[in-house]
Amino acid sequence: MRFGTKAIHAGVEPDPATGAIMTPIYQTSTYVQAAPGDHKGYEYSRTHNPTRTALQNALAALENGRHGLCFATGMASIDAVIKLLKPGDEVVSTNDLYGGTYRLFTKIFEGFGVKFHFVDMSDLRKVEEKVNKNTRLIWAETPTNPLLRILDIAGLAAIAKKQGCILGVDNTFATPYLQNPLDLGADLVMHSVTKYLGGHSDVVMGALIVKDDELAERLAFIQNSSGATPGPQDCFLVLRGLKTLHLRMQRHCENGEAIAHWLVKHPKVDKVYWPGLPTHVNHAVAARQMRGFGGMISFTLKGDDMADATRVLSSTKLFTLAESLGGVESLLGHPASMTHASIPREERLANGLADTLIRLSVGVEDVQDLIDDLDQALK
Ligand SMILES: *Cc1c(COP(=O)(O)O)cnc(C)c1O
Repeated sequence: MRFGTKAIHAGVEPDPATGAIMTPIYQTSTYVQAAPGDHKGYEYSRTHNPTRTALQNALAALENGRHGLCFATGMASIDAVIKLLKPGDEVVSTNDLYGGTYRLFTKIFEGFGVKFHFVDMSDLRKVEEKVNKNTRLIWAETPTNPLLRILDIAGLAAIAKKQGCILGVDNTFATPYLQNPLDLGADLVMHSVTKYLGGHSDVVMGALIVKDDELAERLAFIQNSSGATPGPQDCFLVLRGLKTLHLRMQRHCENGEAIAHWLVKHPKVDKVYWPGLPTHVNHAVAARQMRGFGGMISFTLKGDDMADATRVLSSTKLFTLAESLGGVESLLGHPASMTHASIPREERLANGLADTLIRLSVGVEDVQDLIDDLDQALK
């Protein structure tokens, strides 16, 4: 099956009890047993729930994996991955990681004796330098936030294979519509389902997708033991969202492309970060491993006056100022004062996060209305 067909059909069967075409919301905590141990594969909803099973199977199909596991949030899914490790184990990760992931690694798991290294992963030699006999996990994220840098997944997979460790890829920004890390050699894909997969800004959820049966079994054990699983209502909403993932992503990409090219020509705009632009530092890798370039764009204003950015951020009418991304509606954010405010200014600037940097999550509205909105705000 091709992507759009899978988005609609994969993992979901008509309900065996009634023939309902949409997977019902199995709002139940437990399941009747005819005799002790004699049940239909479902005993307790922390472990299994039919609505969750349908969603997990759909996600596995979209990522070309064999097993999907859903979690209450994206962070809970990454938490489950790190619980595969023991004290003394080491992780190599990227230096412009999603802030919540960085916080989980350094503020929670360092305290349990896991050692984390953060390097510029767009340079594979820097990854190789940090990998050693204790390395159990390489954790990547591509495109990155907010500068949309692109990491070479196949290159990272080769390093992981040589070391015999796991490569995990946070595929939240790209979605399986634009890239499939498992096909490029990764062992594990993670999603903040909250973003494009849910797609309607109404659910918080996470997911892991793997091919290997043994890795899936270890993760399912952690999922059930730690218990950060999503409820059936949320699983239903995501199943519904997935059915239009290909349509939404196609429009996110088209709108992203039009806005990126419009911003490049705008006299008040300095730099534009969008992986589809030939001038983007990692455009070659993006063109090789992605099927499109998405709707996330960052740009800076000429000059370095944060007040200019603040004026733009408070003058848009369609783009709303909010954290998060990936919904049907367009959002904009200001990394320096919002998502990345906890990083000291000097460090922020050294990493290319200018005070005037504005991040757009381009939605699926009519693109001319979005351009008109940005135009009046920039004026
Ligand atoms: C939002 C996000 C997360 C965290 O997911 P939650 O669903 O908010 O817990 C992790 N990685 C990336 C890239 C994200 O954008």
